[in-house]
Amino acid sequence: MRFNIAIDGPSAAGKSTIADILAERLGYTHLDTGAMYRAVAYSALNKGIAYDDEENIVKMIEEMDLEMPADGRVILEGNDISEEIRKNEISMGASDVSKLEGCRKALVAMQQKICADGGYILDGRDIGTVVLKDAPVKIYMVASPEARAERRVKQNLKKGLEADYETILEDIKKRDYQDMHREHSPLTKAEDAVEIDTSYMTIEEVVTRVMEIIEEKTGV
Ligand code: C5P
Repeated sequence: MRFNIAIDGPSAAGKSTIADILAERLGYTHLDTGAMYRAVAYSALNKGIAYDDEENIVKMIEEMDLEMPADGRVILEGNDISEEIRKNEISMGASDVSKLEGCRKALVAMQQKICADGGYILDGRDIGTVVLKDAPVKIYMVASPEARAERRVKQNLKKGLEADYETILEDIKKRDYQDMHREHSPLTKAEDAVEIDTSYMTIEEVVTRVMEIIEEKTGV
């Protein structure tokens, strides 16, 4: 029986990188739920729908043709938007639309349907607390804002995206605040989640720690 794994934490704490490696090692599929909120923000921006226009955003999601193949690409209406949704303005847009209860409800339902048969690693902000409340393995990954900003700068340089340290640090702090203080499903650690502070850990060290936690919790 394949179970699901929940990974939550603030932006750029290493969730996606670790989820990708774990998926490869376990033969599981990684579902990046943040990419779904990003796709909603991207689509709203293109259609001229304001990020706080809940009624039209929900309608848009209901009609949205969004594919999230196992290779990690994000396909909206047949177009590969994987790179575009990583831009800073879309990061903030995703945080804005994610405040809307209707948007969260629609995306949570999609996420639960995708991983209903197990074998998924979901990363996001509300996975352990809402989407996969019963997951046997829940990780809460944190790192200092400075460590996270440094990582994002490196990632963005590789991708040719905006890479100014101060701008990125400010965005990270602003998004943390917004994600932790919103009314619906704010980012919090699930009671049964294990916290890992990745500030001074290498990727391999984090993977080893998560594999230990998986073994402790499931015997696998
Ligand atoms: O993880 P990522 O940084 O790509 O997520 C973008 C934004 O989407 C987050 O800042 C957060 O506001 C929102 N989000 C969320 N719930 C999730 C995943 C992401 O609210 N499960």
